[in-house]
Amino acid sequence: MILDFKQAPAEALSGRFDIAVAGAGPAGQVVARRCAEAGKRVVLLEGGALEYTGESQELYIGEELGVGYRGLSGSRLRYFGGSTNHWGGRCRPLDRHDFDVREDVALTGWPISYEEVAQYLPEACDILNIGLFNEDRTPVEGSETLVESYFRWSLEAPFAQMFDGAPVRFDLVWRDWFEASDAVTTVVNANVTAVEMDAGADRVTGFVVQGYDGRRVEIAADHYVVAMGGVENVRLLLNENRRHQDRLGNQGGMVGRCWMEHPHQNGGVYVITERLHSHLDRWDLMVDSIYARQKNESIVAPTTAFMRDANIMSAGLRLRRPNRRPLSEEEIAGAPFIRDLKFEEDYYRVGVIYMAWEQAPNPDSKLVLTEEKDALGMYRVGHDWRLLDIDFRTPRACLREVAKMLIRTGLGRLRLDDEMLVPGLPDDGGMNGGNHHMGGARMSATPETGVVDGDCKVHGVDNLYVAGSAVYPTGGHANPTVNIVQLALRLAKHLTA
Ligand SMILES: Cc1cc2nc3c(=O)[nH]c(=O)nc-3n(C[C@H](O)[C@H](O)[C@H](O)COP(=O)(O)OP(=O)(O)OC[C@H]3O[C@@H](n4cnc5c(N)ncnc54)[C@H](O)[C@@H]3O)c2cc1C
Repeated sequence: MILDFKQAPAEALSGRFDIAVAGAGPAGQVVARRCAEAGKRVVLLEGGALEYTGESQELYIGEELGVGYRGLSGSRLRYFGGSTNHWGGRCRPLDRHDFDVREDVALTGWPISYEEVAQYLPEACDILNIGLFNEDRTPVEGSETLVESYFRWSLEAPFAQMFDGAPVRFDLVWRDWFEASDAVTTVVNANVTAVEMDAGADRVTGFVVQGYDGRRVEIAADHYVVAMGGVENVRLLLNENRRHQDRLGNQGGMVGRCWMEHPHQNGGVYVITERLHSHLDRWDLMVDSIYARQKNESIVAPTTAFMRDANIMSAGLRLRRPNRRPLSEEEIAGAPFIRDLKFEEDYYRVGVIYMAWEQAPNPDSKLVLTEEKDALGMYRVGHDWRLLDIDFRTPRACLREVAKMLIRTGLGRLRLDDEMLVPGLPDDGGMNGGNHHMGGARMSATPETGVVDGDCKVHGVDNLYVAGSAVYPTGGHANPTVNIVQLALRLAKHLTA
């Protein structure tokens, strides 16, 4: 059943639940549904309504303190289904090497193995309506430093119909199931604003839920899961650590730290031959790929060895859709860069190379609390996104390898943007994040380096868990949601074991 907190009868929220989940985005819905299917009595508390409302979205406003960002409100949605209500549906799981400790990069390494997460990939792909992935890093011909790998799309319909329910949007696909379920009590307009602890503060005793009309109720459960998105999970922990003397995973002062994005930026212009265009039919080079999203979209990425040799993080480079028709003689004559390429083959399609790359863990890149409170009395978040030298070295090193590969194979040429040629930290003007909010409640073996343990349980608290990308110690280069769903399935299994 789905209730509105404004009218929900007190008896529906009283008694003890097995599991209380805060937040009904993909992470929260997956945990709640799988726990209920395993026989648990679950309450799913969603701060927003079933549709967008201004009073809910306003709670997402924060203050920008670091590298320019599109804004914390614009990069997420606060209602049933969460940010999948406007996500793009681009999916790729983390690579095996993303879990490794790297001696050359501080704070890398997951405390759990790749296999522990990968076993949930088929089920996550099924939920997100994408085909299966396999170990798909094939060497790129003409390069020893690059591999070809690919994305899939959570979308069956052509691009033009993208807003008719696809890609998989969690406000729609599972709403009927939650409506019909007796095992999960779903409550919308129910904001979790505080976490009550017992005297010793090693167990949570209740989630405090507030409505927009001032109604306040405490929900009791055996286990508590915060699944409120990559920023709000951290904001709640920061707020509650102020009240509970840093006992909610902040023993090492790590709550909010190592917050990460996937920086995105154009790297330059490519010119390719008809040969490349016709051979690589899986690549994003396909002029029409955006209109037929069920096909794979190939990208190039650095090999594991090259990442270590060059001391860079991971990246995905996309030779984006080229112009729809070959360049005319007049156009070539008018473009010195192309005109002066003296090769046997015709270079006749141009496009932009676009990159998304992995940010290295950095304790100074963080979420903090400002002194301003929102309408529900919680401190608003300050977003201090910062980048290191390695975060600028990564895209440049990879771009150069793509340029070399195109030269070696004679398949094309790349003209790097000026910014990509200058050593040192460039102006960050052309760069932005991908709406991927990772870290801040990172997974670690000990509280000194993170906030949750390998089971996503908050260090030092017996029954409080975090679901979502806030727990990522590192984030690879790919969009995060399929991995969020894998981890949510894993958490549900842990909670029901
Ligand atoms: C424009 C855009 C495009 C994107 N495209 C892609 C893509 O192509 N591929 C990809 O993998 N990812 C993409 N993402 C990211 C993706 O949407 C997120 O990774 C995903 O939604 C995160 O899931 P989540 O459940 O952890 O959090 P969310 O989706 O943020 O869900 C959190 C839920 O918690 C609720 N909530 C918040 N605060 C409270 C509170 N105090 N009490 C109770 N409930 C609360 C919210 O209302 C929301 O329903 C995109 C994001 C955006 C914004």
